[in-house]
Amino acid sequence: MPVPLCIYCGAAEGVQAEHVFPSSWYPDSTPLTCQRLTVPSCPTCNARFKGAEERFIAPVMMSLVDCDDSRGVYDRLSRSWKPDHGKSERDQAHRGAKLLSTLSRVQFKNPPGASTAPVLTFLATARDDLVAAAPASPLQHADIDIIGEKFVRGLFFADTRRTLAPSKFIARVVNDDLFAVGGPQTKPLVDALRSLPSSDSFAPGLRYRVMASPTGDQHWFFLLWGQLELLTIVVPNEA
Ligand SMILES: [Zn+2]
Repeated sequence: MPVPLCIYCGAAEGVQAEHVFPSSWYPDSTPLTCQRLTVPSCPTCNARFKGAEERFIAPVMMSLVDCDDSRGVYDRLSRSWKPDHGKSERDQAHRGAKLLSTLSRVQFKNPPGASTAPVLTFLATARDDLVAAAPASPLQHADIDIIGEKFVRGLFFADTRRTLAPSKFIARVVNDDLFAVGGPQTKPLVDALRSLPSSDSFAPGLRYRVMASPTGDQHWFFLLWGQLELLTIVVPNEA
């Protein structure tokens, strides 16, 4: 059997099985029967996704509320940055550095009546009190584009067993209240996508809908952890 090509770059051998939806992003409510989709991918593409996913997930998870579609994801993630979970001194130092870098990307607002600095309040409180956190700066467009591309290419391959033709991927988080990214020009499109039936469920943490436009573009609309809406516009390159 020949090694399949990486479905992302279409050039290198796909020697690794890449989780389209990262395995640590599945909520605890995921049924045991849920197929955790993997696709052939090369080490270079995997590394590109890993960096974008790590920069994306921490500020997002600190800002979402706990619900069935997100349960357990934050707890798993936060174990990787809590120094007291370290197995050695070096591991503890590594986790401490990760915690500081994570905290620097999140802006905390104190709950009413709290008098300590917001970061200290965060460190001392339980997950449920974290609703007053938000990303300190808009999430990096480049990272979101990469995550949108990863989902779209992976789901397209799972559906058709074909590699999506070279395209440009433009992805944006559209929750106005959460992240204030997206812009008014996307509103009619988002409203149309929101009204599509939501039967295309891939896993409880990631639901999606697809709409083809008359111009040949595809609009993919993802609902992550029941809360975060990610719009990805796929524009095929000129032949
Ligand atoms: Zn590749």
